[in-house]
Amino acid sequence: MNIEENLTEQSKKMYQELLDSGYKIEFESDMKYKNDLKGGSFGMKPMGDKKFKIVTSLTEPTFATEPAFAHELLHIYLFTKGFKDFDEIKLFSEDFVKSVNNSISHYKMVDAFVKLGFNKEYFLNETIDQFVQNINCIINSVCSNDFAFIFSVTFTCLFYKDNYCENDALNKLIEDLQHKNNLLFNIACEAIEYWKNLKDADNLAFFTFLKKKMKENNIPIIVDAKHIESMMFAKNSNYSIDFEKQRRKLNMEIAQLQGEYNNTQNPSILTEINAKLQELQSLNN
Ligand SMILES: [Zn+2]
Repeated sequence: MNIEENLTEQSKKMYQELLDSGYKIEFESDMKYKNDLKGGSFGMKPMGDKKFKIVTSLTEPTFATEPAFAHELLHIYLFTKGFKDFDEIKLFSEDFVKSVNNSISHYKMVDAFVKLGFNKEYFLNETIDQFVQNINCIINSVCSNDFAFIFSVTFTCLFYKDNYCENDALNKLIEDLQHKNNLLFNIACEAIEYWKNLKDADNLAFFTFLKKKMKENNIPIIVDAKHIESMMFAKNSNYSIDFEKQRRKLNMEIAQLQGEYNNTQNPSILTEINAKLQELQSLNN
């Protein structure tokens, strides 16, 4: 599959505009990307110096390839509006910046996506219900002062709430986040308001705002200068990178088992889930 096969008359214009402004866009479609792309079928990697690579694990065009390709083009388009890659944003860890970069970008892409003639329903790969279900699987095992979690999830929730129909499960999740840590939730909402009101897509300004708000509210952050996995709160001195890795690993396993259980209703999976939940609980204590 080549670039041409993924372009519509409309998205071709945007693609050409990017090329005309000196952007270089590589494209590769190969099954080998299936594992890298965590659930999605398309992804985009900034390669520095106005170079980008769009990859997909799909090898044949389907009804979903044109909108998915346009989605990635729009991610690149934001770079013409002041958006920066994570290596220019030293304020938080790489993991956090990458995940937040993706979710806040969507606020500034979705209107353009619709203007290109696509249906909003094809903007994201994951449906609201899938997203809520995944988060619900882990929310109880996450520390209430895990700002990376509360911020990232709140940013995505608010995006769904702003752009799609009322969804009870989503509203309930938003309430849960609020209860989990009201201060962090409010900072996340304020940051998103700030981001929406920015005329351009200056994500460095967004992260600076977020960091300033955390400082004002005495939320301590330890940022690892070498960009290791995670950031933690100073007062949780028993947190360590190993701990964080273990916690994330367990969370992933639980989410996966939960999915298996939903499909099979096999009670032995429930036992496994409970054992892992207990392991998580003992980590958190
Ligand atoms: Zn995206």
